Amino acid sequence: MRYISTRGKAPALSFEEVVLTGLANDGGLYVPEHMPTFSHDELAAMAGLPYSEIAFRVMKPFVGGEIDDDTFRRLIDETYATFKHDAVVPLKQLSHNHYLLELFHGPTLAFKDVALQLLGRLLDHFLAKRAEKGVIMGATSGDTGSAAIEGCRHCDNLDIFILHPHQRVSAVQRRQMTTVLADNVHNIAIEGNFDDAQAMVKASFADQGFLQGTRLIAVNSINWARIMAQIVYYVASAVALGAPHREVSFCVPSANFGNLFAGYMAKRMGLPVKQFVIATNANDILHRTLTDNDFSKTELKATLAPSMDIVVSSNFERLLFEAYDRDGQAVADLMARFADSPTSLHDAPLAELRKLFASHSVDDDTILEVIQEAFEHTGELLDPHTATGYRAAQRARADETTPMITLATAHPAKFEEAVVKAGFKGAPLPDNMHDLMTREERYDVLAAELKAVQAYVAEHRH
Ligand SMILES: *Cc1c(COP(=O)(O)O)cnc(C)c1O
Repeated sequence: MRYISTRGKAPALSFEEVVLTGLANDGGLYVPEHMPTFSHDELAAMAGLPYSEIAFRVMKPFVGGEIDDDTFRRLIDETYATFKHDAVVPLKQLSHNHYLLELFHGPTLAFKDVALQLLGRLLDHFLAKRAEKGVIMGATSGDTGSAAIEGCRHCDNLDIFILHPHQRVSAVQRRQMTTVLADNVHNIAIEGNFDDAQAMVKASFADQGFLQGTRLIAVNSINWARIMAQIVYYVASAVALGAPHREVSFCVPSANFGNLFAGYMAKRMGLPVKQFVIATNANDILHRTLTDNDFSKTELKATLAPSMDIVVSSNFERLLFEAYDRDGQAVADLMARFADSPTSLHDAPLAELRKLFASHSVDDDTILEVIQEAFEHTGELLDPHTATGYRAAQRARADETTPMITLATAHPAKFEEAVVKAGFKGAPLPDNMHDLMTREERYDVLAAELKAVQAYVAEHRH
């Protein structure tokens, strides 16, 4: 399998190369050159299989023989053994034909574990094969940092440096990062805000001289392997509810659109999906684009669902590439206009998207209302991100007869602020984390100075 850029100019890459590479050098994102597909019988045969077996079958075509089957199976088994539920991603019924897919049973209690647990293992595998070492750098305001750290803590060939804004992430989120005491895990608290941390990571990728040849690796949501790993739970949940013999719909709390793009891939591979509902918080670029053809940036709003606080939805470009019939030049032109000023999609691709996607934006007051309402009607305590999905599924679903699967992207204990505001005492951490607040922490505080951060990284890597 080869991978090509959404902007049409960067060289095509192999799976191994695409896992080790972030953004394409023409500014685009990598997508598979051909869409692998499953027949009706192949999908039907997945019903009832363990999650790791479905994962192997769904991802194998994307790996294209670059990892032998036994090794790939082992990596998958190790990945999903870190989840605390035997079903890995259990499906719960909420109401008539409305289901919740719990993606938060991994080590950091959010759906990003599903992909980052695998990505760490894939990176380590490829680096070992090349006898190379790698350095991961990332900035986080919470979620991604801890999931990336957990995904890499056991990797022999990787050092991970995660920058977070000092005293500006919640204690639970900080401790999920800083209590991982592995030798290759380095937490840096930056005396500045998230944007300062992000800017230093970007500058380090742009000029990697300070690492003297060691490869710098990005694990943000544009990494293809993350999308690939997320396709699996769409297939697994749909076949559990009767696909391919009947259609299902999905509702996805969305920000960078990596999660939902994986669902779209599942559909293109043959999964009978009737509708995708995009749920956003008040940062509603996806909703505005679909409903008003307003593809433009607005100010960042801080909401009760902070992991969905974004201005630009980076993976949406992958969907645009498909909607524009894989015309890389057209996507490059559109993204150039979007970078400078408000713009809009052409009529034909927009009409195409509207056939499959609906959207709904949920404000903070509604998030609180939904947390109360869902508890009353179902006994489930939802986290604020999942709450946006719950409401969007109710408001935007096309019909009541097709099962609707809403993706639960985080455990409520991770976002206590919203849960408490909604009138609950709080949400207890799961058993394996009960002592999180008393574990030993390790991190260094650095000034928001690029040179100081780069010197720290160069000195502390192995
Ligand atoms: C990252 C995240 C999202 C958004 O996912 P995207 O793939 O960026 O659309 C939603 N909910 C939670 C809890 C997250 O951590």
